[in-house]
Amino acid sequence: MSQQINHPTISEAEIIRPTRVEVDLKRLAENFSKVKQHVGSVKVMPVLKANAYGHGLVRIAQFFQELNVDYLGVAVVEEGILLREKGITVPILVLGGIWGNQVPLFLKHNLTITASSIEKLKQIDEVAEQMKVKAKVHLKIDTGMERIGVHYYNAENFLDAAYECKNVEVEGIFSHFASSDSADLTYTRLQLERFTEVLNYFEKHSIEPPLRHISNSGAILQLPEANLDMVRPGIILFGVYPSNEVKKTIGVKPTLTWKSLVVYFKVIKPGHPVGYASTWQTDKNTRAVTVPVGYGDGYFRSMSHKAEVLIRGKRYPVIGTISMDQIVVDINNDSAYNGDEVILLGSDGKNEITCDELAEWAGTIPYEILTNINTRVPRVYKSS
Ligand SMILES: *Cc1c(COP(=O)(O)O)cnc(C)c1O
Repeated sequence: MSQQINHPTISEAEIIRPTRVEVDLKRLAENFSKVKQHVGSVKVMPVLKANAYGHGLVRIAQFFQELNVDYLGVAVVEEGILLREKGITVPILVLGGIWGNQVPLFLKHNLTITASSIEKLKQIDEVAEQMKVKAKVHLKIDTGMERIGVHYYNAENFLDAAYECKNVEVEGIFSHFASSDSADLTYTRLQLERFTEVLNYFEKHSIEPPLRHISNSGAILQLPEANLDMVRPGIILFGVYPSNEVKKTIGVKPTLTWKSLVVYFKVIKPGHPVGYASTWQTDKNTRAVTVPVGYGDGYFRSMSHKAEVLIRGKRYPVIGTISMDQIVVDINNDSAYNGDEVILLGSDGKNEITCDELAEWAGTIPYEILTNINTRVPRVYKSS
């Protein structure tokens, strides 16, 4: 059974649009349970930033709430507020920290704050005092990313300051790996070592440690000693591995299929170019179909002359340059009819176009393929 959800940007016109993303919620549940089994009693925080890796933030958060997850992670406060407005009550950590005068928003919506400096801690403490609430924070330690967070070698003062803030509850402390998806784990181990040193603070001061977490998908797959109290999987929940090098120690399967339909058939005469800038032309009579998807949906233009799609279980090349809204597919001597399904990403049971392939064609990583499928493409959810 397919189910259409109320997405804030879906209009009637989009619901009948042939191009859509189908999310397999059963697979998502299976992937989640495999990750849970793999980490044992450790807590799990699904990370749902960037529209839940293209799967649709609200529906995916509702789904994880039904599975009783311990925590959810998002990147920016707007994502957290949207989830609260849609009735998500599980704890939510905003991983990206705070900017400007956002603290009242966090406190009003009961969102957990990433505190990334002493100055920001003080700001949080003051606002919490004014609002007569206790602010929940996770302290961010920089062990080797050089983005946000207090450097591991300055962490002691930061921790002292955190425990002096009367209106702040230090609920967690975390860091982030730079290359846990690589075959060479030297830098990842160094980062874990730095983080572990910081964590000695709690024993030294006889303080019950807060939630300690550092592992993303790559580390969950490859470095179990980094699980600590909680892990933060993103991409593996969606059945995609963070890199080609990573050890596939958990057998997850893709949850997203990107589909469209054949909407036009024609035979192109020899010597007739296809698409903008006439970069490709036929050398013989060519049976071709047009499919209404393009870079305006997130089907990267850089995949022109490389991409392939599945129609009736066979692979065919996309010809000419990828337009904003349409592509043309060479179907060789085969037949295809208006209304035939076209798989852009995903499997039709026998054959598969993987996220890794699209990433290779586009010259990027699988993460960007998923997060780039934009909101013009309606999301449809299947639960069986
Ligand atoms: C994105 C992100 C994750 C999840 O990363 P994956 O590689 O998708 O598992 C975990 N932690 C933080 C801080 C992140 O920004």
